[in-house]
Amino acid sequence: MKSINPATGEEIATHEELTQAQIDAALDRATATFASWRDTAMEERTALLSALADAYHDHRDRLARMATLEMGKMLKSALAEVDKCVAAFRHYAKEGPAMLEGGSIALSSGGKADLVWLPIGPVLAVMPWNFPYWQVVRFLAPCILAGNVGLLKHASNVQGVAALMQEMMGVAGAPEGLFQNLPIRSDAVVGIIADDRVAAVTLTGSEGAGRAVAEQAGRALKKVVLELGGSDPFIVMPSADLDAAVKQAVTARVQNSGQSCICGKRMIVHADIYDAFLERYAAAMAAVKAGDPFDEESDMGPLSSAEQRQNVQDQIETMKAAGATLIGGETMPGPGAYMQAGILTDVPVDPALMGEEIFGPIAMLFKAADMDDAIAIANAIPFGLGSSVWTKDAAEEARFVRDVQAGMTAVNQMLASAPEAPFGGVKRSGHGRELGPFGLHEFMNLKSVYRK
Ligand code: NAP
Repeated sequence: MKSINPATGEEIATHEELTQAQIDAALDRATATFASWRDTAMEERTALLSALADAYHDHRDRLARMATLEMGKMLKSALAEVDKCVAAFRHYAKEGPAMLEGGSIALSSGGKADLVWLPIGPVLAVMPWNFPYWQVVRFLAPCILAGNVGLLKHASNVQGVAALMQEMMGVAGAPEGLFQNLPIRSDAVVGIIADDRVAAVTLTGSEGAGRAVAEQAGRALKKVVLELGGSDPFIVMPSADLDAAVKQAVTARVQNSGQSCICGKRMIVHADIYDAFLERYAAAMAAVKAGDPFDEESDMGPLSSAEQRQNVQDQIETMKAAGATLIGGETMPGPGAYMQAGILTDVPVDPALMGEEIFGPIAMLFKAADMDDAIAIANAIPFGLGSSVWTKDAAEEARFVRDVQAGMTAVNQMLASAPEAPFGGVKRSGHGRELGPFGLHEFMNLKSVYRK
């Protein structure tokens, strides 16, 4: 598997794929380590989480540089991502044990049922490249605390990151086999899901990968959590602070070069303020500077690959053919996968057209006649991951919270995940939750113990 720097187009490393025999040995190791890790004291697990936090903190520059080199994100964003991983490890180290106190339920027939959280075994994580540390850590930290063990199939283009994550386990003193990076291609995943030594699977990625993995997990009758794509609405009403909304609408759309599952991708603006919003938004998006991700002065780096940029250009052409108008959004010359930020206006509200997320710095801008129309446009997609709503009217806010079909709604701010709060979607954005106590419990056995 090749790592290619999307800022230059240069190959920076190749990574050997595991053979079938090596995969088999890894699954044996996972089984053996689970047998002992499941019996460890809570203090040992939290001590390892704290040691991992320290390891990520101590190696933050090296870790961040690898992400920037392999997938092009701004170095400052990569550093922030590593810091967020540190926070997640510390969160589960500190708050996790209380989340595993099951409590007790009184039975109407007399007696009680005590609830006990138990680990389930080795869990396979299939992960994407866009937040290559964070997506894995939000699986890994609760996995360790639960008493499970983890297996990672990371995206093919970030195998350097995957190898560093394996290295950090050693730095933190984790037992061998507690978390194993499997450098494999996606076609090897089916055999691992079917293998009796693997208890469950979690996937963060596209709808297509989600369907494939869910099908395979279904056939093997194994638990699956899916964190898939989104085309999040960002709704702005007349009472909103327009300056703040415009500023955040830019950040939401261009962060990570537009390659985030929960960035606002469809800006839905009330007709009364549409023209004012468009004028300011177009100016602010035009001012976004795409450039070297190691340069502090750049606002965004390249897209993750030349292919990814071509996908976005193809989506733009499809939208234009359907009647949309593009402002900005040009491909930049040179070997890097750079493009300008842009806005598509007059996009028909057609679920078929909006059924694909645009994974690049291109916003779609819609004019909503009123709140009902804004909600209808927001919901006219197959996805339901995040959303952001901008209003100072309490009744409008309540309607949005109730009626926008999404797993998460941010009020007067752009959406960002946090280790403490559950994260996940509805509709074709997947099912299950990560983070908080809910993410920890997804891969555990809640045993009811009946007593007199
Ligand atoms: P992707 O192509 O679906 O890849 C994700 C992972 O799945 C990679 O490890 C990939 O391996 C693997 N994979 C692909 N097809 C597979 C198959 N048929 N069977 C088993 N594994 C398979 O997605 P991506 O391009 O890396 O990431 C972008 C997508 O992820 C976007 O749709 C984005 O919205 C979504 N995402 C969602 C969340 C969330 O929390 N909801 C967060 C981040 C990203 P290879 O690299 O080897 O193909």
